[in-house]
Amino acid sequence: MNHRLRVLIVSTPVGPIGSGIGGGVDMTIRALTSGLATLGHRVEVVAPDGSATVGDVTHRVAGTVQPSIQLVDRSTVVPSPVGSVLANMWSFARRSCTDFDVVLNLAYDELPFHETFELARPVAHLVSMGSLTDAMDRAIDETLRLAPWSVAMHSNAQAGTFLRGTATTIVGSGVDVESCSFVDLPNADGRVAFVGRISAEKGLRDVVDACVTARRPLHVWGYRQDENEWNEAVAGVPPHGVTYRGFVTTEILRSEIGECAALVMAPKWTEAFGNVAIEAMACGVPVVSYRRGGPAEIVVDGETGYLVAPDDVPGLAGALRNVETLSRRACRQRAETHFSTQAFAHRVEAWLQGVCGRFGRVDFSGTPLSF
Ligand code: UDP
Repeated sequence: MNHRLRVLIVSTPVGPIGSGIGGGVDMTIRALTSGLATLGHRVEVVAPDGSATVGDVTHRVAGTVQPSIQLVDRSTVVPSPVGSVLANMWSFARRSCTDFDVVLNLAYDELPFHETFELARPVAHLVSMGSLTDAMDRAIDETLRLAPWSVAMHSNAQAGTFLRGTATTIVGSGVDVESCSFVDLPNADGRVAFVGRISAEKGLRDVVDACVTARRPLHVWGYRQDENEWNEAVAGVPPHGVTYRGFVTTEILRSEIGECAALVMAPKWTEAFGNVAIEAMACGVPVVSYRRGGPAEIVVDGETGYLVAPDDVPGLAGALRNVETLSRRACRQRAETHFSTQAFAHRVEAWLQGVCGRFGRVDFSGTPLSF
């Protein structure tokens, strides 16, 4: 019989939930809180001040936010000084962890990994990105060496970027499929979508080039994290070629992207998962992507989208010409079967129960942590 878990989720320190700065972590938190609640678990969240309300209780904590590290040099070490929101969220976790069965870390920072064996309750880490810095590699690989069960990742490709990645649990991700409006007939002008942070690793420039070649109007939704990247991507493109739809709420996004014939992804990094792919599929929108990172594990090539060789812009353009032959119903079905919040929560529940089961039964004396 399933044990009813009390879970404390510690959010990302890069920005408040709902601001867009945290990217897919926001969606992960929403999917987890609703999915785990449906399975009868109690979920509270500790997050930076200004965060939207999620879970049974949202604890908001003050402090300076952490910089995003998608594009930093591998040697970068991001400190979490006293007074940072990360340090403050983890002091909250230390103080209140005995009210919970497990503390679930969603921050891609060293500090929570140092806390793995310091709390009076088990700490589980759901890692949101692949390998980016040497310091984070050490923190994650050392935790994987000592307590491989405590770490989960979203995709095999992401796990493969870490030395001991094969030891992790893969949980994928999930979307509230019911909140995504299924659209069988997209807009007649053949428009396609780019959804995501406007930042170099997301490859907007390649997407724009592919759309120009394929003569497809491109509609862009997302947080403009890097204004220069936006200007470079749209330079020289006629105004009707690219339409910026803004950074919109999840609800608006899910009511709008169904109008598109496809979602295009051109990741320049190992995308850990690609939540936008499952949201699009849930709306009936096929996904055209480079065969790189998470999207390559989400899309069934030729059924729910097309996968082309990494960095092959003409390949993307060619695939875009054929998207109308794909079944939009099949996209929705794949999202329902594999990537619903319930399916995701079942995978996470099994993982967390394993983490709790291990806690207290392992003697770590004599195995000093050396990050
Ligand atoms: N998103 C949003 N509004 C927008 C564009 C994107 O809420 O206008 C959300 C989208 O729903 C998705 C997230 O931003 O959940 C992006 O997550 P993804 O995993 O695709 O990329 P990440 O930013 O984490 O690298």
